Amino acid sequence: RAKHDVVRSVCFYDASMDEMVRARRNLASDLRLAIERNELTIYYQVQTSVHSGEITGYEALLRWKHPERGFIPPSEFIPLAEENGLILQIGEWVLHEACRTAAGWEPPYKVAVNLSAVQLAHGGLPGYIMQVLLATGLQPERLELELTESAILSDKERSLHVLRQIKNLGINIALDDFGTGYSSLDTLRTFPFDKIKLDRSFMLDVEDNPQAKAIIRAVLALGKSLNIPVLAEGIETSDQMTILTVEGCDEAQGYLLGRPAPLDHLLESGQITLLDLKNFEALAAAGR
Ligand code: C2E
Ligand code: MG
Ligand code: MG
Ligand code: MG
Repeated sequence: RAKHDVVRSVCFYDASMDEMVRARRNLASDLRLAIERNELTIYYQVQTSVHSGEITGYEALLRWKHPERGFIPPSEFIPLAEENGLILQIGEWVLHEACRTAAGWEPPYKVAVNLSAVQLAHGGLPGYIMQVLLATGLQPERLELELTESAILSDKERSLHVLRQIKNLGINIALDDFGTGYSSLDTLRTFPFDKIKLDRSFMLDVEDNPQAKAIIRAVLALGKSLNIPVLAEGIETSDQMTILTVEGCDEAQGYLLGRPAPLDHLLESGQITLLDLKNFEALAAAGR
């Protein structure tokens, strides 16, 4: 009995003191196996035109379903993957998977894929993107890459060079989370963006905060004069949507319009229509 208690207290000691430390340490090595074990999936969130209400595309958002811990948010595992370099492998998987999926959607829906600073800094990016487009048959104008200012500014010269190469392939580039972090007007002037994604923090209290509304108005004016469409992130209420309509925002994304969901759900709810694949093959053959 005494022996049993000792064992129990040892187990208890392990569990209480080391469990979290162990979990943290192991998360990185679990992530290494996550791809082969099919634990990574992509959710898609709809983006719509504010003016017409029509769907313009979907943002691919990575999800990790850990076998013991359940869903781990990207804000937790992506920084980890950036630290140990795994983000290169994961990012390639996301890009390939998202492009393969989008190639089966009704055109002209776009797919937006988030890129990490580490991917941008890595030499092979434009070549890899081209390979993915060739392998999946997705037209380059249907791919949009989302980058944050901090990702771009970590090595400005290099980023500019790489982004120009990517744009030369015919791919769109969106500036993500605009208004947070650096947000210098110089970034907008220097880099060839096709879209500005206004960070969702500006939508939070826009209904009753004149300052928030003034900022939205100013960013929309900036977008108009630079000829860059603006998408507002994090739209949760119809009041927010009304403000965007009145102010003339181009596109919107948020829970009001649709939560990020697995492809199956979107197909079932009719939010995405798959191409008639035979027709698609015939078109592809005719184009050759
Ligand atoms: P993000 O690119 O700015 O993506 C938008 C985030 O806002 C998503 O969080 C989305 O689920 C959430 N969101 C959308 N609409 C609403 C809304 O109406 N209200 C609220 N409260 N939230 C909303 P998520 O999926 O947790 O992703 C967080 C971040 O993780 C992303 O921010 C992106 O920076 C990063 N991330 C996600 N997938 C990838 C990926 O494949 N690669 C890389 N490098 N980063 C990714
Ligand atoms: Mg994004
Ligand atoms: Mg964002
Ligand atoms: Mg973000």
